[in-house]
Parts: sequence; structure tokens; C-alpha cells
Amino acid sequence: MLAVQGAVSEHEAALADVGARTRRVRAPGDLDGLDGLVIPGGESTTFGLVAGESGLLPAVRGRIDAGMPVLGTCAGMIMLADGIAGGGPQPLVGGMDIVVRRNAFGRQVHSFEADVEVPALGAPPMRGIFIRAPWIEAAGPSIEVLAEHGGHPVAARDATRIVAAFHPELTGDRRLHRMFVERVRASAGAQHKEGSVVGAQ
Ligand code: GLN
Repeated sequence: MLAVQGAVSEHEAALADVGARTRRVRAPGDLDGLDGLVIPGGESTTFGLVAGESGLLPAVRGRIDAGMPVLGTCAGMIMLADGIAGGGPQPLVGGMDIVVRRNAFGRQVHSFEADVEVPALGAPPMRGIFIRAPWIEAAGPSIEVLAEHGGHPVAARDATRIVAAFHPELTGDRRLHRMFVERVRASAGAQHKEGSVVGAQ
């Protein structure tokens, strides 16, 4: 769990529910031995400021580039995007071929809940809690859109990243966390087979 700020404990509970052990990451060294990372919601500018100072952003990027699976929700999705539409530059992890629009559905007053169909997860739809949520404005060919709301992609994945504009950790629905943890297990298993020390935990 990236624990610089944001909705950390709710994700920890969700991950525990699907059988994962977690640890809090605040500094680059905390990434050692981790098999996967969740970047929670919060405020992406604050993440960027705090994590930028400690060198955490490039350290996270390096691990993802080396194949570590990551789940990013809301501000976590923003942190993983390669770019932000209509906003000034801000520090990001980057690397995912999406451009996101922050606060795309409106500001705080426009937080809302909606059923979101996620075909990759089957029925029923997920209950999406959107809090000053971004949407995906543009996505490259490496991106599989997992869900849309109001005609805009709100969840997606590529080979290492799963992102959602809403907050699955705030509902009892663990299907997206399970999808992520299954990826973590598969990638950690593959690395162990190659004899790598990464994924020792
Ligand atoms: N509006 C926030 C941002 O732009 C994201 C909100 C959230 O994570 N709930 O960073």
C-alpha cells in the first residue's frame, strides 16, 4: 500500500479479504521485496509533492517497468497516467498510456454513486463510488477499457496496471481487488521460477 496519504486502511481491509498480506510504503526502500502495489485515492497533487520529495515516484515507476503489478484507484489512477488533460504539469508516476481528466464529473458536490458494468468481472455490475473522480480522456492501443460511465472510460488495465476512477475499497465488492491479487500471485510465481529475489514476501 502506498501510504503517503489517502484511503489506505480500506484497501488494506479489502486486500486482507482476498488473502493478501500488506505493508505500508512511504519511502523507496519500503518497496523492497514487494510483489505488488496499490496506490489509493486521495489528492494526486499531494501524492506528487510528498512522494516526489522522497524519490518514491521514480522508484515506483522502476518497479512497475520491471513488471510489478499495480492497482490505482481515483487519485491512484491519475498518478499512473502518462498525462493529464487540461491541467498544469504535476509530478506523476506515469507509464500507463492513458490521459486522464481530473475532477472530470465535477467537484465535491458532484460525488455520486452509480452501477458500473465491468464485463471482465461478469454480473452483477459494481457499485461505483465516485468522489471528485477523474475519467480517462484518451487511451492508447495497450489499454483495455474495463468499464465506462456516461460514455467515458472509468476503469482500465494494461499488462501491469489496473486502474479505476471510482473507489471499490469502499464497497464490500472485492472482485477488482481479487483480479489484482491474482495478477500479483501469477507474476510473483513467475519471478520465483526465474530465481529472482524480487517477490520474496
Ligand atoms: N480529485 C482528486 C485528484 O484529482 C482525486 C479524488 C480521489 O482520489 N477521490 O487528485
